[in-house]
Amino acid sequence: MTTDSIRRLNAADSDFDTQLQQLLAWESVADTRVEATVAEILQQVRTRGDAAVIEYTNRFDRRQLQSGSEFCLPQAALGAALERIPAAERQALEAAAERVRAYHQRQLQESWRYEESDGTVLGQQITPMERVGIYVPGGKASYPSSVLMNAIPAKVAGVDCVAMVVPAPDGQLNDLVLAAAAIAGVDQLYTIGGAQAVAALAYGTESVPQVDKIVGPGNIFVAAAKRAVFGRVAIDMIAGPSEILVICDGKTDPDWIAMDLLSQAEHDQQAQSILLSPDTAFLDAVEKSLSRLLDELPRREIAAQSLAGRGALIQVASIEEALALSNRIAPEHLEVSVEDPEQYLAQIRHAGAIFLGRHTAEALGDYCAGPNHVLPTSGTARFSSPLGVYDFQKRSSIIYCSPEGADKLGRVAGTLARGEGLEAHARSALYRVTE
Ligand code: NAD
Repeated sequence: MTTDSIRRLNAADSDFDTQLQQLLAWESVADTRVEATVAEILQQVRTRGDAAVIEYTNRFDRRQLQSGSEFCLPQAALGAALERIPAAERQALEAAAERVRAYHQRQLQESWRYEESDGTVLGQQITPMERVGIYVPGGKASYPSSVLMNAIPAKVAGVDCVAMVVPAPDGQLNDLVLAAAAIAGVDQLYTIGGAQAVAALAYGTESVPQVDKIVGPGNIFVAAAKRAVFGRVAIDMIAGPSEILVICDGKTDPDWIAMDLLSQAEHDQQAQSILLSPDTAFLDAVEKSLSRLLDELPRREIAAQSLAGRGALIQVASIEEALALSNRIAPEHLEVSVEDPEQYLAQIRHAGAIFLGRHTAEALGDYCAGPNHVLPTSGTARFSSPLGVYDFQKRSSIIYCSPEGADKLGRVAGTLARGEGLEAHARSALYRVTE
């Protein structure tokens, strides 16, 4: 990579706003051909169940399935994979799972209630979802960490049945993915993927149970299918390309920051890596590090395209200006690589996950720090949050009226109901009024 392969911007330039808009622009998954393909797959699975799932799986994943039972993996296969993998990898998976579980246990919402002086009780009851589907991508690569990050919060919430789907191209399954499913407590595993797997979970088939919510990342077919079944089932989000924004005062090792940017860029060509610093010499140093370190990476072609197309090193006047700019961008991952980062926390309003201090590499959050790595992308951190236990819990409100409470509330409700012209409502409330 040459040193001019990542764009350099200056927040003081008069046309900076236009440049920033161009930098952040991203074509969403809306593609009419993909949508038409997915609509057909959904319709077929909805009406023909397993038979359609088998046909599409055989076509797209090059399988020779004859019946639904062949894509249902027995629980024993998960345990066997756990026994098969090397000890170091098993220990790493178990250590990561333990930390993710401990973090998410703190997110559990509790039911609550309070009693008024006349004996009326009001409250909120928390219940877990019954059945949740987890999509684990598997077309081109395998993602054991995604299994942990999606399944563990669901199990911590108390979901009865976590059904996981993962494609097995050419019948091949990754042992680490199966081992992660065993560790996370996945209840059922189906070796299917793409829109047909999303459809099976949304509508149910002879072999796959219908679920209440589908979570997890995937390619454009998976994203389009999730978008289309939303409403029949809940979904977590439609994820865009991964992003990192680093704010650095110029005193962190430039190689560390360059590798943090590269760790995002190696995801895919559309991934975005941005560095903000008030220190021009530091921006120069990171640019040099990027050139040198890129060549050492196996995925250098993807990373180079990502940096050249969507990366940026941006000169700012101060850390405060960097924080204001970061709030405008609302990044998925925000690294604050400065002295005493805590002092800036209150100024950060919009970010999926915040990594504080020079030693906190974003990659630690991807795998094992504890917080979830499924995060809002493309500026959606302005209004949404990381995947968590609360995504698998529901709230029901509780009302108990004492006779005195019914009397008091009945008068209020009766008056309001008549004001709305709803006489049955008014009488229903007033029947319980004693005088
Ligand atoms: P995938 O499992 O998402 O998709 C594979 C499936 O796509 C196949 O089973 C097939 O059914 C379907 N498919 C492929 N070509 C098709 C066609 N022409 N018509 C209809 N269906 C077709 O696996 P993938 O392709 O490797 O994509 C994984 C994606 O997930 C990547 O974009 C990756 O970046 C993303 N990802 C994101 C995160 C995150 O946390 N945000 C984590 C891991 C992966």
